[in-house]
Amino acid sequence: MSGSDSPGTGENQQVTDSGRVDVDTLRQKFREERERRLRPNTNDQFPELIGPLGDFLSDPYVDPDFTRPPIDDEVDALIVGGGMSGLLAAAELRKAGVKRIRIVEKGGDFGGVWYWNRYPGARCDVESYIYMPLLEETGYMPSEKYARQPEIFKYLQLVGQKFDLYDDALFQTELTQLEWDETSQKWQAQTDRKDRIAAKYVVLAAGAQHRPRLPAIPGIEEFKGHMFHTSRWDFGYTGGDENGEMRGLADKRVGVIGTGATGLQCVPTLAESAKELFVFQRTPSTVAERNNRPTDPGWVEALRPGWQRERMTNFVSLALGIEVSEDLVDDRWTYAWRKLGRGFVDPPEGAPSSDVSEYERHDMELLDEIHARIDGIVEDKETAEALKPYYRYWCKRPGFHDDYLKTFNRPNVKLVDTHGRGVDAITPSGVVVDGQEYELDCLVFATGFDVGHGYLNSGAFDVIGRDGLRLSEQWGNGVRSFHGFFAAGFPNCFFTGFTQAGFTANVVHTLWEQAAHIAHVVGCVEDASASTVETTGEAVDEWQDEYANPNPATIKFWEDCTPGYFNSEGNARNPEGLLAGYYPKGALVYFDLLREWREEGSLRGLVVK
Ligand code: NDP
Repeated sequence: MSGSDSPGTGENQQVTDSGRVDVDTLRQKFREERERRLRPNTNDQFPELIGPLGDFLSDPYVDPDFTRPPIDDEVDALIVGGGMSGLLAAAELRKAGVKRIRIVEKGGDFGGVWYWNRYPGARCDVESYIYMPLLEETGYMPSEKYARQPEIFKYLQLVGQKFDLYDDALFQTELTQLEWDETSQKWQAQTDRKDRIAAKYVVLAAGAQHRPRLPAIPGIEEFKGHMFHTSRWDFGYTGGDENGEMRGLADKRVGVIGTGATGLQCVPTLAESAKELFVFQRTPSTVAERNNRPTDPGWVEALRPGWQRERMTNFVSLALGIEVSEDLVDDRWTYAWRKLGRGFVDPPEGAPSSDVSEYERHDMELLDEIHARIDGIVEDKETAEALKPYYRYWCKRPGFHDDYLKTFNRPNVKLVDTHGRGVDAITPSGVVVDGQEYELDCLVFATGFDVGHGYLNSGAFDVIGRDGLRLSEQWGNGVRSFHGFFAAGFPNCFFTGFTQAGFTANVVHTLWEQAAHIAHVVGCVEDASASTVETTGEAVDEWQDEYANPNPATIKFWEDCTPGYFNSEGNARNPEGLLAGYYPKGALVYFDLLREWREEGSLRGLVVK
């Protein structure tokens, strides 16, 4: 049976005769489902990957015996991390005329998440025309609306070449120390390959989604079959490549734990290759259609300079409920925003509670469409019911896939629903749920990434600023920045990512804005022939005021949500959590604020010496 491509109204018991959702019944159901999933240990339910679990971190895509002589040199800019954020910072610095740029990257190439996540089926489900940055500068056009991992990875390599970043890049290398040297007025860095690098500027762009997260399931270390995380795919075992065709699995019983955005993408390809596939589900994702299509050459021909920025702004405007004359991206992300007529989760400031419940109703209608799609595709009724999510639409990252639901109609695929509890145990030979053991040859963890332990966890080193000041002390109780880029006492050091910056579903938009802003500030310092740029304690305090009175409706929304990495697994007020890192007035306000600040020209909040 093929999937219905258009959203329906659904025939669930939560829909009243008039076709409107029964808010009270659904609210009650959401509460019950959330209760089942709340765990007192929130983020700490995931063990540190050390000891026998340390193997999960190793890089299967490189020669582990690679060596090179250590480097001792001085550069203009040192960038930690060669993923999207680091590459964008490097490209923008290059455009601003910075000559010696050294990127230190723990993987074997540029690419970041697109380097690590090579699992068969991996694809970006944010439109590639807005997700793949610098398209006008590189002259590249993605082949599809939603590009596959190999294309994005290759494109990021092209960015590295185009901006001449390979010669000075240090791959398979991790920073171990970063310290400000008052005498030379430079940063002094050391790496795990004994390199010593002095740099005038440092950009910290290590990101968070490079550290796999495993569940602390009893017995995990005892499993005698083969196991790996989706971001460290073992093609040596499975055979095949990013396209699938994993012949090594033809006689194997394979289990997948995790049904988030990654699980949705790898389950259909695994199902095609494995003898049997068991999908262990704790919480179902919302799965809307993706509607991928090849890039239309006629459309490309009609594009005018500036089109990519315009498209990105159009997308984020819709996300924030800002009226636009046309929905340029026109996909399931923007469909949901248009339907809601507002942004991600934030009701307008000061909205009366009756309005808030209107948002709730819209969310429930979206969910009803998701449920109807499941009913239309999944043949087995029990499986269909188990695949239905029950939480506010934006509590978890929405999912999009045209084949995921269909996969459960295959005779070799079984959904094992754990009713919110998660897998009970792992034995030497398989996985236990509800007292039943599922014997497995191979176990794949699609269990996400460690994003819940604060900014400092994203790198294996502390940053030591002026007078021995440690970032771990200054940010020990959460990030305190100016504009998300600067910390007091850390001159010439720029932070990127969600360090109190504007968040958008198109993460790259934020990273690119940040990169351009950093390049602007560096340009100002160079134009002034100055040595340092640094924020003041007052400027940092002032920026904290922006976070002082969060919208109570937003907080309540996240507190009522089912646990997930957005709300620190049910601990929405976690000062180190993802939510604490984003600018509460929305990404577009943040981007405008930075633009106005640049145009104003006085570098307010910074001291240049
Ligand atoms: P997630 O953190 O979103 O999902 C982890 C999954 O593992 C969840 O289904 C979770 O269940 C499950 N899980 C955790 N512990 C257990 C347990 N003990 N037993 C059973 N199940 C468990 O990770 P993903 O890798 O799926 O996605 C992470 C992010 O990566 C996405 O949100 C997105 O930002 C990005 N991504 C982007 C893509 C793109 O196209 N641009 C594609 C793929 C990923 P539960 O929900 O109950 O916690």
